[in-house]
Amino acid sequence: YYNENTIIFVDGEFKKASEATIDLYSQTMHYGYGVFEGIRVYKTENGPKIFKAEEHYERLLKSAELIHIPFTYSVEELVEKTYQLLKINNLESAYIRPLIFCGPNMGISKANEVSIMICAWEWGAYLGDKLISLYQSSFCRPHPRSTKIEAKVCGHYVNSILASIEAKDKGFDEALLLDCDGYLAEAPGANLFFEKDGQLFTPQTGNILPGITRATIFDLCKELNITVSEGAYKPEMLENADSAFFCGTAAEVVGIKSFNSKVFPLEWQDSLGKKLQTAYLNLVLEKELLAQI
Ligand code: PMP
Repeated sequence: YYNENTIIFVDGEFKKASEATIDLYSQTMHYGYGVFEGIRVYKTENGPKIFKAEEHYERLLKSAELIHIPFTYSVEELVEKTYQLLKINNLESAYIRPLIFCGPNMGISKANEVSIMICAWEWGAYLGDKLISLYQSSFCRPHPRSTKIEAKVCGHYVNSILASIEAKDKGFDEALLLDCDGYLAEAPGANLFFEKDGQLFTPQTGNILPGITRATIFDLCKELNITVSEGAYKPEMLENADSAFFCGTAAEVVGIKSFNSKVFPLEWQDSLGKKLQTAYLNLVLEKELLAQI
């Protein structure tokens, strides 16, 4: 993720990543009490463009607010610092990771110091570009009455890591978590869509992270005249779907081959997911939506 020359942004300053430090008594380290984002920058014909920069930083600030971490930067400042960071590191396409973390405090209580760091590195498609096999996790997503599920909180990712390890141990590529009531929720780091009879379906908000890519897929569906519905869907709906895909900033749009070893009948090439994958990549690269990739 970094080498000797990598520069990161920490609390108003650009520093060498190898020399930046964190207090070992940080509340974030001990309790997972922090918030973060995952953002991508794409090399377009008009130079490097951070995709949905404002939306991501707005969500970062919202996440901090939801869990009561006071934070004073504005979205505009954060976007500007991020473009500077990319320039300093000579990055034209990259993954960007801002993290708001807390200073030393062993109390299970409000933060008394708050910091931000932003780093960036070149990162290919997170789940690869092949179709993936999916395992129905034995872990459910955190219940919305247990936490602020719509916030991107560090501590939530223990649940994601457990699900991901379990799926890989069972020989699958990725996990699919249900919510605590047994309805389809999301992957450890991506949202789910599935296709049935020419229409798309996706789990409703309430038990998932409302993804920025998910919102982009809704916009693309509108533009491409694809019907998409949100609801509470049982795993059987996914088992009987024609095709399915995940979407997220890191994963982009990735096709799913099978769910619990049952292979989806529709060829990926012929699916709405494939069409949206093409449109998404064209959108982030600022090209014609249905241009050949
Ligand atoms: N769900 C979870 C749990 C995630 O971590 C992510 C990645 N941020 C997503 C969904 C997709 O969100 P986005 O499209 O905003 O990256």
